[in-house]
Amino acid sequence: RIAAVDGAVHAFLHVDTEGALAQAKAVDDKRTAAKKSGEQLSPLAGVPLALKDVLTQEGVPTTAGSKILEGWKPPYDSTVVKRLKAAGIVILGKTNMDEFAMGSSTENSAYGTTHNPWDLARIPGGSGGGSSAAISAYEAPLAIGTDTGGSIRQPGAFTGTVGVKPTYGGTSRYGLIALASSLDTPGPCARTTLDAALLHEAIAGYDPMDSTSINQPVPAVVEAARNGDVAGLRIGVVKELGGEGYQSGVEARFHEAVELLTKLGAEVVEVSCPHFEYALPAYYLILPSEASSNLAKFDAMRYGLRVGDDGTNSAETVTSLTREAGFGAEVKRRIILGTHALSSGYYDAYYGQAQKVRTLIARDFAKAYEQVDVLVSPATPTTAFAIGDRIDDPIAMYKNDLCTIPSNLAGNAAASFPCGLADEDGLPVGFHVMAPVMRDDLLYKVGAALE
Ligand code: GLN
Repeated sequence: RIAAVDGAVHAFLHVDTEGALAQAKAVDDKRTAAKKSGEQLSPLAGVPLALKDVLTQEGVPTTAGSKILEGWKPPYDSTVVKRLKAAGIVILGKTNMDEFAMGSSTENSAYGTTHNPWDLARIPGGSGGGSSAAISAYEAPLAIGTDTGGSIRQPGAFTGTVGVKPTYGGTSRYGLIALASSLDTPGPCARTTLDAALLHEAIAGYDPMDSTSINQPVPAVVEAARNGDVAGLRIGVVKELGGEGYQSGVEARFHEAVELLTKLGAEVVEVSCPHFEYALPAYYLILPSEASSNLAKFDAMRYGLRVGDDGTNSAETVTSLTREAGFGAEVKRRIILGTHALSSGYYDAYYGQAQKVRTLIARDFAKAYEQVDVLVSPATPTTAFAIGDRIDDPIAMYKNDLCTIPSNLAGNAAASFPCGLADEDGLPVGFHVMAPVMRDDLLYKVGAALE
């Protein structure tokens, strides 16, 4: 299937044919042995998966969508990959993404754009457009994404697939090439709610290798995905996430889904989260600040690309030439923004202020969750836009993340589930659900009810 369609979709950066066949063979052998011994294999044993190219897999090229990591083969497995392998999941290869996960369309990938399988002239969302497109184009039934500001949920919405951002700290960041360490969260992408829950269960849980990992049992996501009973569930529609600026087809499908949940016995009320309007500006200070610091390690000495190392240049010049050649425009823009926001004299005015806004947003959530069990909104203001449409307008691109970013700032669980097609363009619409920290199960309950 990948050979047949990926020339047009470009979801994959690297297909690991040999590695995948070897893993599949190993699962077969294990299954034969298990039949004799009575051992139970994971329900996902043998199921193929596409991995976002930002998680390390030992010996397999990992680029994070950047030229600066071209040719780098990590010497170790990320925790997510370790757990996939332990479940017998077969990793098909690495998927395309915006460079260092900065973007909402995959147009910032140094290796070309991924195309939306619903309409090849449109973007599949980002940064994890490759993972969601691979599922949508039936190249893989499961994929892994990472969500810092919406990079699992927004591509899920744009490709008509399920995308879940677990609670921050619910899945391990060990071996994830960091964008913004206080926000980054690996999570499942799938075609159905139950598939996503099974994958969630396989990768989640405490990891001593990640200092922000939560040491608590994994929420009962599979049980919730199998049950889908929303009777009595209190659902809050976020007043601030909708209305002006939202595409009419997106709003129509969203409200129909809310009606369906009401019919199924959920109690729906409107909830106000007044600080959500400041989430976007706060995020675009916090994220570049953390990113500028995280990306300092790409100094031409340790990984991948090295430019100008001809014996005449100083180490500093080699670092500078390599970063000039190896980073794309959006990455440079954010490094400059972040370095400025963190510099002395500006720190309090920008970064400090943004952190205060972050607290206010977390308080909005806390207050809302006193009244309701989950919050809902459209996942994105519009359906998938055309390739090239917003690439020259970073602010228009950033506005994509209006609905998804608040949950990242607060560390909550959140997900996007398909809820039909917009009338005006026939493209998929995503239904966004937000749940309190470590109540990821509630997301799946709502997702299952909508199916
Ligand atoms: N689109 C957002 C950004 O550009 C989200 C990124 C992400 O979640 N990795 O920062």
